Amino acid sequence: MRTPVVAGNWKMNGSKSTVTALLQGLKQGLNPGRASVVVCAPFPFLGLVADELSGSAIQWGAQNASQYPAGAYTGEVSVGMLQEFGCSHVILGHSERRALFSEQNEQIAAKFMAVIDAGLTPILCVGETLEQREAGTTAQVVEEQLMAVVDAAGVIAFSKAILAYEPVWAIGTGRTASPQQAQEVHETLRKRLAAVDGAVADKLPILYGGSVKAANAAELFACPDIDGGLIGGASLDAEAFLAICHAAE
Ligand code: PEP
Repeated sequence: MRTPVVAGNWKMNGSKSTVTALLQGLKQGLNPGRASVVVCAPFPFLGLVADELSGSAIQWGAQNASQYPAGAYTGEVSVGMLQEFGCSHVILGHSERRALFSEQNEQIAAKFMAVIDAGLTPILCVGETLEQREAGTTAQVVEEQLMAVVDAAGVIAFSKAILAYEPVWAIGTGRTASPQQAQEVHETLRKRLAAVDGAVADKLPILYGGSVKAANAAELFACPDIDGGLIGGASLDAEAFLAICHAAE
């Protein structure tokens, strides 16, 4: 039995006051349950998030990390720095980083290994564009993205990781993959990993991301290979995010 995970991706949103209000709403409203709840905040808010969430049932993390431990990498943030702020999770390979900041599979794999080596949990994102879906290459694209990291980091590293399937055409668009579409890709990903190591594949949480809302979460999370969600827009609203967490119980 896999533990459901609901992770919020705040992206580049929020201010000290809105973050404080959001976290207080989450702490007050969250009923301790089976699901793991994580919020991934912008770097400057991690100290504030740590102060607010310490001792609560909610974990926190970042949305990116450098593959390097320290040095002359202007603008980068190391995994060690994230550890100092109590982060447990790091989102890697989000489609916005792939598309807008030219992150490639090789670099994402290096970041994944840095996060694993530090004992933090990577949330590795994979997903196809609308063009790729319409060309019938969804399985090939997501398998390639997954296997680039499996080949570099080794399959055993995935016993400490989370995978997120996020179709690019569903992110921030209000257009959600149907439960059937999402389940089909989740099953493809799990089977591909199972071809390398069945036990690791069986235990790996695979989250769905792409316009998840309170209204569609339960139906998505009921699919056999969907183990929770990576939530963008709806994670900025305490009530909406709590309802999605509830749907994962
Ligand atoms: C995301 O950015 O990871 C995401 C899933 O966004 P949204 O829920 O807003 O589509």
